[in-house]
Amino acid sequence: MIDVGVRPDDHIYPSATKACAVLSRIDIGRSIHCVVLKTGFDGDVFVGSSVVDMYAKCGDIRDARKVFDIMPKRNVVSWGGMIHGYTQLGEADEALRMFKQVLWEDLDVNGCIFSSAIRVCGNSTLLELGKQIHGLCLKMSYDSSCFVGSALISLYSKCGVIEGAYKVFDEISVKNLGMWNAMLIACAQHAHTNKAFDLFKRMECVGMKPNFITFLCVLYACSHAGLVEEGKYYFELMKKYGLEPGDQHYASMVDLLGRAGKLQDAVSIIDKMPIRPTESVWGALLTGCRIHGDTELAAYAADRVFELGPVSSGMHVLVSNAYAAAGRYEEAAKARKMLRDRGVKKETGLSWVEEGNRVHRFAAGDRRHSKSVEIYKKLEELGDEIERAGYIADTSFVLQEVDSDEKNQAIRYHSERLAIAFGLITFPPGRPIRVMKNLRVCGDCHTAIKFMSKCSGRVIIVRDNNRFHRFEDGKCSCGDYW
Ligand SMILES: [Zn+2]
Ligand SMILES: [Zn+2]
Repeated sequence: MIDVGVRPDDHIYPSATKACAVLSRIDIGRSIHCVVLKTGFDGDVFVGSSVVDMYAKCGDIRDARKVFDIMPKRNVVSWGGMIHGYTQLGEADEALRMFKQVLWEDLDVNGCIFSSAIRVCGNSTLLELGKQIHGLCLKMSYDSSCFVGSALISLYSKCGVIEGAYKVFDEISVKNLGMWNAMLIACAQHAHTNKAFDLFKRMECVGMKPNFITFLCVLYACSHAGLVEEGKYYFELMKKYGLEPGDQHYASMVDLLGRAGKLQDAVSIIDKMPIRPTESVWGALLTGCRIHGDTELAAYAADRVFELGPVSSGMHVLVSNAYAAAGRYEEAAKARKMLRDRGVKKETGLSWVEEGNRVHRFAAGDRRHSKSVEIYKKLEELGDEIERAGYIADTSFVLQEVDSDEKNQAIRYHSERLAIAFGLITFPPGRPIRVMKNLRVCGDCHTAIKFMSKCSGRVIIVRDNNRFHRFEDGKCSCGDYW
């Protein structure tokens, strides 16, 4: 168009930027933005908003914000783009701040903005705030939208309220695939395995065609419950639906077989893969080897990981531990050194808990909280109580957990324990304590929290970066698989 001298207008620019967003082609998006500026369309609310949305969806929130901040007039697309962008990046505070601001604007807030805000609450386990937004959706009749519905299901599931997720699912009569998948993930996360299988059957009955994600969910449910035969069934079923398993489906199968101790079967699945096994596939095998103490196979898998080239920092830890267990200390040291050389910044272990509209954050050994004295006193008391109930501290986790910077801290003051103690002294009896953690829960804390749930008679829900734990009466919903 530009070549033949036709000037794009306020309809054509948004279409072009939308295409860039869908394809994640920020390079072309930037060129279009330049043409927008040259042709003086940057002041146009539709064009400007579409540019903001494009940058945000392509993951460049800073450029999105630059354009957003200087716009003379904004609409739901620009607000929605920004809120979605911050949500995707996990910047919950900014996403929620903008959400509150947009409610004050005289705009018709759409389902997209609501679903982003609900997702933020789900990702940060902010149940109370999420419920308030749910209430707003009901008032504004967005409660029957599938986008909002999927977000709500995931909110309730991630906050440990599976009943809430079922309720939302049942109340929305016309369901899209996203909603079915959201409900399946929720069932898998809560180990409602039979319910997940039922849902899958219901999907087939109503003629909803499952996709890649659907199969990932059922495979995850199988893996969680150690159901090898069912896993194989669904894995084969994928092909009947014309879906070729991707690396994550293979990783799931390897995880399932590995955890069940069928390590050789896992290896033969990997050998038969038509695509190159990825980090997650080897990672799943390494996990199986660790559980079943097969140090030789673990070292073999570790060798394969090294051949892949650069891998994530978590993988270096797995590999290093595998070599160390096999007595190959030089390679173990090498894996650790690679991690250090790459300058991987270790994330600080943080746990947080929501109280009303406030979020209380804790780091390991943290004494900054205004209730610190009471929190530590509660932990001391609880420590004695759980020891009498049979808990023995496993300090080996202090050394093993090299992926967290908490190793130097006394294990009993890990951040999640501080958050739980805060909940115990603050929340009325009977109210479950929901804790969110950005790193994996260590094995010793996992054991300790089981005892804490028994001794205090509380339901304690901890969502770490890996999975979801619901502790009740001395047991955890993960069945110690995590
Ligand atoms: Zn711990
Ligand atoms: Zn658990």
